Amino acid sequence: MNDTCRILLICDDDLSGLELRRMLGTEMRIEPLLSQGPARTLTLEIEEVVLSGTWEIGVQDRHYRLCIISVPGGASPMAELARHPTLLGNVATVLYLMEGGGMTLSAGALRPGRDRLLGLPCSRATLLGTVERMLLGALAQRSVGGEDPRCLALVQALVTAEERTVRPVFAVDDLNGWVYPLVLRHAGPGMDQLAMLERLVEHGICTRVVDQRVRSCPSCSGLQLVYGEACARCASVDFVRETIIHHFACAHMDTQSAFTKGNELVCPKCRVTLHQIGRDYEKPTGCYRCQSCAFISTETRITARCLTCQAQVSPEETVERLIYSYTLTAKADDAAQAGNLTGLGMASVLRNHTTGLFAKSFFIFSLERELERRRRYTTAVSLVMVRSTRLEAVRRDGPNSYADYVQVMWKAATAGLRTLDVPCVCEEGVLAIMLPATALPGAEVVAQRIADHFSASRPAPGAELELVITTVEAGENHADVDALMRDAIGSLAPTGITTSDVLVLEEDEQNTPQVMRKS
Ligand SMILES: [Zn+2]
Ligand SMILES: [Zn+2]
Ligand SMILES: [Zn+2]
Repeated sequence: MNDTCRILLICDDDLSGLELRRMLGTEMRIEPLLSQGPARTLTLEIEEVVLSGTWEIGVQDRHYRLCIISVPGGASPMAELARHPTLLGNVATVLYLMEGGGMTLSAGALRPGRDRLLGLPCSRATLLGTVERMLLGALAQRSVGGEDPRCLALVQALVTAEERTVRPVFAVDDLNGWVYPLVLRHAGPGMDQLAMLERLVEHGICTRVVDQRVRSCPSCSGLQLVYGEACARCASVDFVRETIIHHFACAHMDTQSAFTKGNELVCPKCRVTLHQIGRDYEKPTGCYRCQSCAFISTETRITARCLTCQAQVSPEETVERLIYSYTLTAKADDAAQAGNLTGLGMASVLRNHTTGLFAKSFFIFSLERELERRRRYTTAVSLVMVRSTRLEAVRRDGPNSYADYVQVMWKAATAGLRTLDVPCVCEEGVLAIMLPATALPGAEVVAQRIADHFSASRPAPGAELELVITTVEAGENHADVDALMRDAIGSLAPTGITTSDVLVLEEDEQNTPQVMRKS
């Protein structure tokens, strides 16, 4: 495979630009280690600008896979690029080169999973390795559609190799922090592994379960956090464990050396001589004294520092992330044999037969806006989720009954919706309907109407039990769309199916990751 990657260098003088250019060369060949996966060649087209008053002219409307900005010692490279939002929007990833000392970043300065910071000086190998990873990450940002032949090739390879479960493995050098080795082996580097697997879930080819639950950096989503202790009062790390004396009478606490006067112990505060331990004073264990602020305490404060962006936060401020493993369903075998992943999917049936179906990406986008509206004006927003317990059985009856069934389900779900309500196929077998300006009671009315409508159009015995319909109203605990969707899908599923915490849901639009990705 060969890809051309356009790279923009922003430097503070010609010389450093030249040096970077020479180091990068014109081609990067990515050899799979120990013949795992196909090789890949990246042709590098490097453009360079030197910082001056109007350096952005000529580059800000172009698209780049990678921008390397190096202004050591000068102004903050983040601030420099932040002044040019158009350009920032056009670069898939940014590598900031900064002098290692005194690196402090404001929260949110790096776009999660996209931008990186590298402290200078660093070795040539570190720089080249980082550039290689970032280019592969940028290439992986191209959206993966369900019809993408690479998804089918992956399923066929997994079925042939009888590798039915794809599990994540933590990886230091991956931008996300973890990889799926089986996907890497079969699809090669530079693929959005998560997006491919999520596609397969949407099409009922895979199911997923939570495999890892980890904490991540709130600014950049990095998983590499270094924990350490600091003074509970002033956050200084310069503290020592010392023998402490606590004088009962005046409650003064200090180090033993502060109490020592010749052969006696004298309280430095009230000048009383201490005689008997247990009656006059005690020596509490596990105490430390801060060298910066002289605070004495038995407790320290734990802080977490992100190795990727240098942010320093308390453990409570770190963010939970879920990492899933994926297992092929029986449908995977059929799809691999038929050479078609999407033939028998709800979304494709509905796309052929109905109007009013919204792409999932639009659904997520609208939901994001409604959540924002809720935060600002406390306007309620609710979701109605619909799943059929019989869908797999119906699918086995053949494509016609499946198509009929899906349409009945869709009509029941969408009858009587208002113009601003947004219905979509959330994943294979699950319909989601967003109801703006609607609280839970209103959503329950809609749910009942769906149930009635469905029973009326399928007068078979037990039809009223076929649909699982749940309602969720967005609340304080739904910090973002992910959290809400997790609850919504979780509410449907006795099977432990949960939605991904990373929404990689571009449906069929090309190259619109900015809207869909969490940023
Ligand atoms: Zn202190
Ligand atoms: Zn005292
Ligand atoms: Zn970070």
